[in-house]
Amino acid sequence: MQYDAVIIGGGPAGSTAATYLAQAGKRVLVVEKEHFPRFHIGESLLPYNMPIFKEMGVMPALEAADFIPKYGGRFSLAKGDMENAITFGEGSFTEEPLAMHVERSVFDKILLDHARECGAEVREGWTVKDFSISENDGVAVTITGQHEETIQAAFLIDASGLANFTGNRQQLRQFHPQLQKIAIYGHFTGITLTGDSCIKTETHIACFEDSWFWIIPFTSNKVSIGLVLDRSAVKSTSLTPEQIFQNAVDSSESIKHMMEHSARIGPLRVTNDYSYSNDELVAPRLIRIGDAAGFLDPVFSSGVYLACVTAREASQAITNALDSNQALSSSMKAYEKRTRRNLKRYREVIELFYDRSFIEILLQPEPVLRWPCALNAFLSGRLELPWSLRWRLKTFIWFARIHSRFPLVKKLNFG
Ligand SMILES: Cc1cc2nc3c(=O)[nH]c(=O)nc-3n(C[C@H](O)[C@H](O)[C@H](O)COP(=O)(O)OP(=O)(O)OC[C@H]3O[C@@H](n4cnc5c(N)ncnc54)[C@H](O)[C@@H]3O)c2cc1C
Repeated sequence: MQYDAVIIGGGPAGSTAATYLAQAGKRVLVVEKEHFPRFHIGESLLPYNMPIFKEMGVMPALEAADFIPKYGGRFSLAKGDMENAITFGEGSFTEEPLAMHVERSVFDKILLDHARECGAEVREGWTVKDFSISENDGVAVTITGQHEETIQAAFLIDASGLANFTGNRQQLRQFHPQLQKIAIYGHFTGITLTGDSCIKTETHIACFEDSWFWIIPFTSNKVSIGLVLDRSAVKSTSLTPEQIFQNAVDSSESIKHMMEHSARIGPLRVTNDYSYSNDELVAPRLIRIGDAAGFLDPVFSSGVYLACVTAREASQAITNALDSNQALSSSMKAYEKRTRRNLKRYREVIELFYDRSFIEILLQPEPVLRWPCALNAFLSGRLELPWSLRWRLKTFIWFARIHSRFPLVKKLNFG
């Protein structure tokens, strides 16, 4: 074997897995089709990402990049004045008080360079074209760049993001029917943000009846703004994405005011059909991580965090399989089980966000059963939940599901 593992993709999942494997003394190759830095959406990270960065040893490089601190998130009605903030440092179940917003082109390059410094081989500008797997003999991966080449390795890690390279080849992708959304987004300068410096750097989610905006200030003068709406609503109109975006801006006084003196940097982009899972996350000599394992709607900014968590756990499972000379180990199967549990938990709460019961309960003036505290921990990325937290989340989900059919608290007017 030339390598212990070949990784498809050098995004956060691929570079995190490469770092852990290289640090464990494994020979690892990352094949990335782009040359970094390259544009990527997804600037808002979660607090529980920070211990992973510390463990990887990449914190000094991230600190040197001087990214914007993220103290929490704010949910509001786009056409009203009701809002509620979740401040990570104030959550009694939340152990990590701070996250950050990042310019992904810069951040992704730091992670990939760190993997290289830790001993991983990285080929940028090379694309994985094909692969074949033999349980006994390992994987053969065909890559093209300056020329075409076939690489032999013991394991293949799919970190190809929404391209979902191996899952698509094996027809494993299942889209979530309730989450068929389209995102229209861009980077803007000249945005008017109000409030103190902590509030100004929160992720702000502004909700309409059937759509919502994210507002993420990721440098001192650049803000990521995106509109997420039902795919069916876009299909049934002849308006262009620019017009749909502008109409939504114009229909909210607060967003219109915020964007009054703004200018867009680069194009307005559109992504659709991004919420899915694959039927299988591990197979002999193959493991899927990050978005290539499954992706959920961006409303809770969980993408990069889950990419890093799955990469960390998958690389530990593969290290273990390599050391015990197995093609499919029990720790790989345990990885699949844990990842499915985590994705399911996020999906349940995201579905409640879309039927508005999440917002209606969160915006109640009197918090019940310390649900906002429990949600604070969950939205920070706490995945291993003690009983005190688990029962609160479960009762919140039950209550919200009942409320969506038989109103239990005051229904909100989204305008
Ligand atoms: C609209 C939207 C908004 C989002 N907002 C947020 C947010 O605020 N916060 C957050 O945490 N997440 C957000 N996300 C999610 C986040 O962008 C992803 O979850 C994250 O980038 C996943 O990392 P990854 O490494 O799995 O995939 P990626 O970052 O996509 O990396 C995959 C890499 O694989 C490479 N690749 C693909 N195919 C091949 C191939 N055949 N050969 C070689 N290389 C290949 C690609 O070039 C790419 O660099 C958002 C996503 C969307 C769609």
